[in-house]
Amino acid sequence: MRTPMIAGNWKMNKTPAETKALIEDLKKIENRSGAEVVVCPMTVCLSTAAEALKGSEIHLGAQNVHFADKGAYTGECNAASLKELGVEYVIIGHSERRQYFAETDVTVNQRTLKALEAGLKPIVCVGESLEQKQQGITNEVVCLQTKVALLNVGEKIDDVVIAYEPVWAIGTGLTATPEDANATIGAIRGAIREVFGEAADRVRILYGGSMNDKNAHDLMAQPEIDGGLIGGASLAAEKFSGVINFN
Ligand code: PEP
Repeated sequence: MRTPMIAGNWKMNKTPAETKALIEDLKKIENRSGAEVVVCPMTVCLSTAAEALKGSEIHLGAQNVHFADKGAYTGECNAASLKELGVEYVIIGHSERRQYFAETDVTVNQRTLKALEAGLKPIVCVGESLEQKQQGITNEVVCLQTKVALLNVGEKIDDVVIAYEPVWAIGTGLTATPEDANATIGAIRGAIREVFGEAADRVRILYGGSMNDKNAHDLMAQPEIDGGLIGGASLAAEKFSGVINFN
């Protein structure tokens, strides 16, 4: 009942010209899995990407959005501008934002609410650090992150996507086992159910963390895993194609 999603987080890679070239390559790929494919280029590449994606079935996402409508926030980008450019999804609370840009559960919630208000669909990232995993508190950490991120979301819960991304697995080549990822995502769904009831069964929860064309099949075979948020393996069309066609 949940349409799988494969989303590429291109982080601070690809110039506008490279963005256009990669999108042209992606448009040639046959999508045999039926997954909803999303690409999230740098903010400065979004208008090039929107133009290149015209007429294609690939969706456009941003990597961040500010929680104010407008104002003195040098370097930030507001939801109205993303909307105007044709952006549909926005990644919020990626661990790199939390680590390098002082993002907290509270600002993740503020950004999520602003995105939803503007008609954007947030892809909210949660995940435990290596230390938290070793202490055996993964479920507590990710469930709390999820509940705080979704405070006051109300009926807009149906527009939210969650990405479970263990911090120790991002860009490291280490991946959670399919079984572990499935269990943690099941716990996240349980936390959503506590607040939003049966809507939890409609919320897509992705796995992210060194997911690639080799391991996507086994991860996607798990019942709780509804897709992937892909960093490194989304930067070249051939590899990303292997993830999109995970079946
Ligand atoms: C990410 O940045 O969201 C991510 C999962 O990166 P990678 O696939 O490179 O680990």
